[in-house]
Amino acid sequence: MDTQPPPAVLGGTGHVEIDLGAIADNVRELARVAEGAEVMAIVKADAYGHGAFPAARAALAGGATWLGVAQLDEALALRAAGITAPLLTWLYAPGADLDAAILAGLDLSVSAPWSLDAVVAAARERGTRARIHLKVDTGLTRGGALGSGWSALVDAAAAAHAAGHVEVVGVWSHFAYADAPAHPTVRAQQEVFDDAVAELGRAGLGDVRRHLANSAATLTNPAAHYDIVRPGLAVYGLSPIPDLATSSELGLREAMRVLARLVLVKDVPAGAGVSYGHTYHTASDTRVGLVPLGYADGLPRAASNAGPILVGGRRLTVAGRVCMDQVVLDLGPGATDAVGDPVVIIGRAEDGEPTAQDWADATGTISYEIVTRISSRLPRVYREP
Ligand SMILES: *Cc1c(COP(=O)(O)O)cnc(C)c1O
Repeated sequence: MDTQPPPAVLGGTGHVEIDLGAIADNVRELARVAEGAEVMAIVKADAYGHGAFPAARAALAGGATWLGVAQLDEALALRAAGITAPLLTWLYAPGADLDAAILAGLDLSVSAPWSLDAVVAAARERGTRARIHLKVDTGLTRGGALGSGWSALVDAAAAAHAAGHVEVVGVWSHFAYADAPAHPTVRAQQEVFDDAVAELGRAGLGDVRRHLANSAATLTNPAAHYDIVRPGLAVYGLSPIPDLATSSELGLREAMRVLARLVLVKDVPAGAGVSYGHTYHTASDTRVGLVPLGYADGLPRAASNAGPILVGGRRLTVAGRVCMDQVVLDLGPGATDAVGDPVVIIGRAEDGEPTAQDWADATGTISYEIVTRISSRLPRVYREP
């Protein structure tokens, strides 16, 4: 197991290693599973903490033909970095720089009259057509147009399309229960989606790409693949259905490892209160080690006395509170661990390392939240395939 940080970060307190080959392989696997559909790799939130630009490149190398990000600024940053692939973005507020979006050739989601009006105004100004995907609310009750709002949006979009201001290239929606494939809302949402697509067709907008499936639906629900699938979490090798299958059972490999080194090792007596509030007391004379990462680096404070850390081949649990910048481990009496020894905070299940899923289980959350909150304070180190 190679846990030595590369020279560039040797003096750092910790770093995040990203396996770009894993991202490419995961996308390859998702494309295989969704054969017949294109893959839009979702790289929002700095690619779930993995680094948007390198992850986007790796996903494209693995066969993704589309990329998706939530925010307009995330999309503009990818264009500025040189990403030319079709790129969908779906969150912007009134006053957003849609002119820049159109100039950058972005695909914009539209789910309300105000956003259609804003996109049309920007396209007219520029004397060009904006590429849009109409979003329908099929039951998540979040983004998207609902019911008669959908019908009105379809009519307005058809008029703008005919007038040459927009090109309606997609129709899309999002599941509420994709991680519970047998849930009745899954089938119901697909039926609403099919009706919404049919309505578009009747308005003369039949030539559109349909997309509905996130990671969980891509992996569990072939009937939801349509023309494009939109996996995010699975691209990074994490299971979107941890109660049903592990990532390796899904043919995926974790791309992120969070690594650090012990910066202090010392003997303490039995009964010593450890870290703020003394929520942990040593059971015997023992040796403790200091790991220089804390909640400012993205380790949840809720992982106090719960988060798993691998040191010297043993899986230990954070002793006491997670502090802003550090945590303590009870290494055990006579432990031979030394200052400088590597510790793995998040890594790969196959190598016996604690995973983002383990941290999620330990803190009552989902792996999405664990990886997206790993702080930018920790440098990312990229392993090329
Ligand atoms: C984040 C997101 C995705 C990707 O979801 P995963 O569960 O990570 O695969 C797909 N579509 C939309 C609209 C999203 O917000």
